[in-house]
Amino acid sequence: MALTESSKAASAAKASTMKTIGLLGGMSWESTIEYYRLLNETVKAELGGLHSAKILMYSVDFEELVELKHKGDWGEIGRLLAEAAARLETGGADCILLATNTMHKVADDISMSAKIPLIHIADATADAIKQQGIQRIGLLGTRFTMEESFYKDRLIHRHGLAIQVPNSESRELVHDVIYDELCLGKIREQSRDRFRIIIADLIEAGAEAIILGCTEIGLLVRPEDSSVPLFDTTVIHTRAAVEWAIDSAA
Ligand code: GLU
Repeated sequence: MALTESSKAASAAKASTMKTIGLLGGMSWESTIEYYRLLNETVKAELGGLHSAKILMYSVDFEELVELKHKGDWGEIGRLLAEAAARLETGGADCILLATNTMHKVADDISMSAKIPLIHIADATADAIKQQGIQRIGLLGTRFTMEESFYKDRLIHRHGLAIQVPNSESRELVHDVIYDELCLGKIREQSRDRFRIIIADLIEAGAEAIILGCTEIGLLVRPEDSSVPLFDTTVIHTRAAVEWAIDSAA
């Protein structure tokens, strides 16, 4: 009884200084729902009772950003997301959680204009991988994430990981399933089968684990679809944010 009372008091003390997470979402909203759920579930697991996460959310109209992406206008995407982050900051958020891997291509535009920290999805993911002593890892995500340097180079040069991506045909398939299905809420068994094969190929080529480097892939791929551990960036990113919100408040 006394223990329950004291652990309750400890939770209350932590909760009283818990920070507000600025969730920059809508990319797509299918995965932002998961962010919202996981942030709250993690706080509940940490603090118990009816505790839940303090969240301020700004959710974009994704189509506008996808059009800019097709035009290759990353400058405008960076400007729009930095503006959205500024709204969160003005509203009282203590950190920015950009709920997509791909849009971390403009993470610096946000970090440079915001006074509050951005919790980088690739750093949180790399930390989780290194904690498990894993070094060689397969990466699934959009073509931007699998092919460009903004994400892979961070994992390789900042964190010392060896990254393996699928071949070009498989990269195209993964990319198309993300935008044409998962971001629209379509979960297809046939796509899950294709992902299973792509994951098996990465393992065959030496991957010790797989990064689900797109915040919607966890809606399709489950642990039983892989014979090696899966690092789901949505789960890892939300956990890192809750740890930050609770611990940095002490
Ligand atoms: N949510 C996806 C990701 O984590 C892709 C959507 C996007 O931001 O383009 O990369």
